[in-house]
Amino acid sequence: MVLRVIPLEEAQNRILATVPRLATATVPLADALGLVTVEDLAATQPIPPFANTGVDGYAVQSADTAGATPESPVRLRVVGELAAGAAPSVPVGPGEAIRIMTGAPAPEGADAIVMVEDTAREAAEGGEIVVIRRAARRGDHVRPAGGDLEVGDTAFPAGSVLGPAHLGVVASLGYPTVNVVRRPRVAVMSTGDELVPPGEPLTIGQIRDSNRPMLMALVAQTGCEAVDFGIGVDDEAVITERLEKAAATCDAVVTSGGVSMGDYDIIKIVLSQIAEMNWWQIAIRPAKPLAFGMLSGVPVFGLPGNPVSSHVSYELFARPALLQMMGHPKRFRPVTTAVAGHDMRRRSDGKLHLNRVTLRRSHDGSGRLVVTDAGAQASNVLTAMALSDGLALLPDGEGVAAGGDVDVMRLDLPADH
Ligand code: AMP
Ligand code: MG
Repeated sequence: MVLRVIPLEEAQNRILATVPRLATATVPLADALGLVTVEDLAATQPIPPFANTGVDGYAVQSADTAGATPESPVRLRVVGELAAGAAPSVPVGPGEAIRIMTGAPAPEGADAIVMVEDTAREAAEGGEIVVIRRAARRGDHVRPAGGDLEVGDTAFPAGSVLGPAHLGVVASLGYPTVNVVRRPRVAVMSTGDELVPPGEPLTIGQIRDSNRPMLMALVAQTGCEAVDFGIGVDDEAVITERLEKAAATCDAVVTSGGVSMGDYDIIKIVLSQIAEMNWWQIAIRPAKPLAFGMLSGVPVFGLPGNPVSSHVSYELFARPALLQMMGHPKRFRPVTTAVAGHDMRRRSDGKLHLNRVTLRRSHDGSGRLVVTDAGAQASNVLTAMALSDGLALLPDGEGVAAGGDVDVMRLDLPADH
């Protein structure tokens, strides 16, 4: 086991150079949120499929309404009614109007819709009359066929991340499924003899397993399927079997605990035996130790056990790798330059410090974002992680005085590079 201290970027680059993109799958729309498309999505029909009205009102010939105002309205004969979903049966002729509801096809002859708010109804001999109080221009409130997408247009290119609106567009094009990079299944396992899940009694020396629910939630938030592999008990055969099962049934494995220096944890012994592991010390604080490697072709992330370290390590290493496996073109959180709300001093120790911070809009009119510590910065204080919006990046040195510039990695935004 060779230990070296390496820069953050080197560890990230080596991980991204190793993890594969997963295979393509055809996925129902209900299961496709957050997945990445593998082909251009082309319109094979126009959207909207036919010219229709964007408002409730009256389909008219705009020339008939010329000069109409509340004081001198125009009167047209109502010759029909069209609800959304109905096919027009009669055209609109000169002097005529058809009552029409939002989404209904624009009838032949009509070239504009007058909003119902600008009309009134009158009974008259021989039929209904609509009083038009506002002149319509040609095309008013008519949504033309193909106004969003024409046949042959690309709705969005390969490599698009499917958000809620994308799924709506795919459905409007008539596709019940979409071709994407399949969703990774990620095994999550905690290790440590001291760990007890919530709901069971604690004895002296034991602590709650906070990492597993946290890491499973992070995995789910990344858009992967989290698979619970429990707490690894301190037994070589059991841990070996558990990890082999994880690698056989999942696309990545995330463990926490037992990878720091001077540990004699079983996870370390087992991973060294069955996987091709790198045991890294990374020049960052928190989350200095990281075990990364491949087990039967499946990436394994051995994260440190301290909860803040686990979270930060997941953010910096596992999340970009999982996004790459999913085919995401952007894998890293945005970094924003903000202003320190108080002194952010640190000691020079050769490491990049990542402080848990909040971001608030400044009240001084400058519109700048102000950075404040979210709480104590020890690597076991998970509440500060929970309250934070991001990680202040404090490079090696003395830190930053109040009012100085601080780069903040935004944990509240998805990815921009
Ligand atoms: P380790 O990385 O195993 O040396 O653990 C470092 C610290 O993190 C120790 O205080 C552990 O008790 C704690 N720890 C390890 N795993 C977990 C976990 N799953 N949940 C909460 N704390 C943990
Ligand atoms: Mg331990």
